[in-house]
Amino acid sequence: MAYLDHNATAPLRDASRLAAERAFAAGGNASSVHASGRAARGLIEDARVKVAALAGVEPSEVVFTSGATEAAALALWGAAQGAIDAGVRITRLFVSAIEHPAVLANAATVSERFAGLRLETIPATAGGVTDMDALRNALREGKGRSLIALMAANNETGVIQPVGEAAALAAEAGALLLVDAVQAAGRMAVPRADYVMLSAHKIGGPQGVGALILKNGVPFTPLITGGGQERGMRPGTENVPGIAGFGAAAEIAMRETVAPVLRDHFEAGLRAIVPNVIIFGAESSRLANTSCFALPGINAETALMALDLDGVMLSSGSACSSGKVKRSHVLAAMGVNDDVAGCALRASFGWSSTEADVKAALLSITNLQARIRSRAAA
Ligand code: PLP
Repeated sequence: MAYLDHNATAPLRDASRLAAERAFAAGGNASSVHASGRAARGLIEDARVKVAALAGVEPSEVVFTSGATEAAALALWGAAQGAIDAGVRITRLFVSAIEHPAVLANAATVSERFAGLRLETIPATAGGVTDMDALRNALREGKGRSLIALMAANNETGVIQPVGEAAALAAEAGALLLVDAVQAAGRMAVPRADYVMLSAHKIGGPQGVGALILKNGVPFTPLITGGGQERGMRPGTENVPGIAGFGAAAEIAMRETVAPVLRDHFEAGLRAIVPNVIIFGAESSRLANTSCFALPGINAETALMALDLDGVMLSSGSACSSGKVKRSHVLAAMGVNDDVAGCALRASFGWSSTEADVKAALLSITNLQARIRSRAAA
């Protein structure tokens, strides 16, 4: 088996599994004052320190959630309502056209539910980079407080986004900034912003746990109310095993450096096998672990199935909306036509990846291409 789909989910790290198993075995409700409760609280606070270190923030800024989708919803709702509660309405919500659906869909919902909040999309260049000139101009035009959502790195192409520049524009315009750092965490430095989303399962932690980093003092009204856990920002009995597993993964991911060696070997091999291969975002700064490419004339679904039969696991478009294969909105925003986008595949590497995985994937692609050629010749 060659698993090359770390951007969809990374295999669980042993240290994470162990940490989660220990938490399951220990039991206890972190809100209880007895020994068992105190032990559960200890596991959560230990994990908070580790996740804070990964994000480069204070532990008090980490709010554990059920994942990054929830973190996006809490941030967008919380900022819109929080601003109203503080007497300053957010009137404009800017989202990059290449954001993950976790941000796009929640931004659309929030803009529908909050009267006077207009959603505006910032385009991306052909290289997959969000257009900062467009954001600069848009910020100049309107009036009122803005919220900008820009991901640190794209999950489909791996293209790194100009978050530093967006943060400077936001500071100049008095706007708030939400950064989806899901794919960046463990692969590059997590940028600082008013709101930051993280997910454990992309760094080898458990699925169904993540965090919202809330900069001290930013507008935020909790969407969920209840027993006051997570300082009232996200109440509900904590997922202690998940959080402990997240902490363990964060601790390791922080120490790792992801070298582009496997990705580069894979792309060099691809170019040798399929000279007309298209590698999306290749001219931009990319995460070292992601390769998004099209084998012209070979439909992505056909390729995925053939690779799967050989035990090679890749994805087409965004596997986060798994099961359904639909055209990628990211490639569409980059101006890629539907025919080419229909051939787009993504290989993403991570802690479990080896040269043998690269070889297996290249062999499978070689065989697939040979089969297609011989069929065409028959
Ligand atoms: N943002 C990005 C960039 C992602 O790749 C994902 C993947 O699922 C998410 C957000 C959603 O994260 P989660 O699965 O924790 O809800």
